[in-house]
Amino acid sequence: MIIENVKIFGEDKTFTEGRAAVEDGRFVDPAQGAGEIVDGGGCFMIPGLVDIHFHGCVGDDFCDASLQAVENMAKYEASVGVTSICPATMTLAEEDLHKIMKNAAEYRRSTDEKKAAGQWDGKGAKLVGINMEGPFISEKKKGAQAADHIRKCDTALFRKLQEESGGLIKLVDIAPENDGAMEFIRDVKDEVVISIAHTVADYDTAAKALEEGASHVTHLYNAMPPFSHRAPGVIGAARDDEKCHAELICDGIHIHPSVVRATFAMFGADRIILISDSMRAAGLTDGQYTLGGQDVFVKGSLATLADGTIAGSVTDLMGCMKTAVLKMGIPLEDAVACVTMNPAKEIGVYDRCGSISVGKDADFVLLDENLNVKAVYVNGVKQ
Ligand SMILES: [Zn+2]
Repeated sequence: MIIENVKIFGEDKTFTEGRAAVEDGRFVDPAQGAGEIVDGGGCFMIPGLVDIHFHGCVGDDFCDASLQAVENMAKYEASVGVTSICPATMTLAEEDLHKIMKNAAEYRRSTDEKKAAGQWDGKGAKLVGINMEGPFISEKKKGAQAADHIRKCDTALFRKLQEESGGLIKLVDIAPENDGAMEFIRDVKDEVVISIAHTVADYDTAAKALEEGASHVTHLYNAMPPFSHRAPGVIGAARDDEKCHAELICDGIHIHPSVVRATFAMFGADRIILISDSMRAAGLTDGQYTLGGQDVFVKGSLATLADGTIAGSVTDLMGCMKTAVLKMGIPLEDAVACVTMNPAKEIGVYDRCGSISVGKDADFVLLDENLNVKAVYVNGVKQ
């Protein structure tokens, strides 16, 4: 397949008019492409999006621990241009976490089996990881996580869950001020990306965690003390450590546009990863839903618990990218990098996806000039 008449987003983060070619589900040298010709109609051609932090959509949640839920989520995400998914777990009872991890491993296994048997229809985003958002967090900043199941950092439990998931856990969240957190970081820093999250840590504690091996911050600004001039907290420590990357939810609800712009200036676009943090109501209408066992009320773009606490978002990652560009003034090139190459690099899948490069999976999206999705392809298959 040859895709022509498109502006292609390159690894240098610029758009170049040209053509791309796909063979056997991967990008090949455009000069050697053959077969069907797709007229891109002058669209932007960007890599498929990679969401490393979301919980659910279209009525389903990763924590439902059912194969059908993961499949429904994968199909919906692909339909909006998110071609690789790394959904998040919540703070739940240990037995539930075991079920969720085993379900994810089973989903991967059954998908691979269908592919090997030639029974795969090619539809749906690829499950490339799991983001373990709980339970090693602080009760003081639990957000929409259930307090009952919060626990101390536990290396043995993490390793057991990682084994059950078939190695899919790419990120684990911790509150670094908790007992045993620094030891946990030292134990597992070479096995998984450690993220500072749901925390009341001060600057020094967060800086120490980063020095020990943490390298990521979960939904910067949310569920942590604010960035203030005499108490910069986690946000200041993250900014000061060049190897630390930060998640931002650009749904227009979680963070003021001015703060989003300030964060891009402070961190530089290379260190920012946009996430959706969407819950099961994404893609559905207003109403009452659940997240991590708690009731959530959705009205427009706002999802809250009964007490008003924000409970995830209802905007998919493509919607967040559009909001960042069209309503917050983030340059398109920066926003695209923050939803494709940056998250792919962070969870170690950039060798397979995250850019339009020869040899990588042919996951891409065609967007018109108003950033509306015109077509999505996963491994060269139209979604
Ligand atoms: Zn979350």
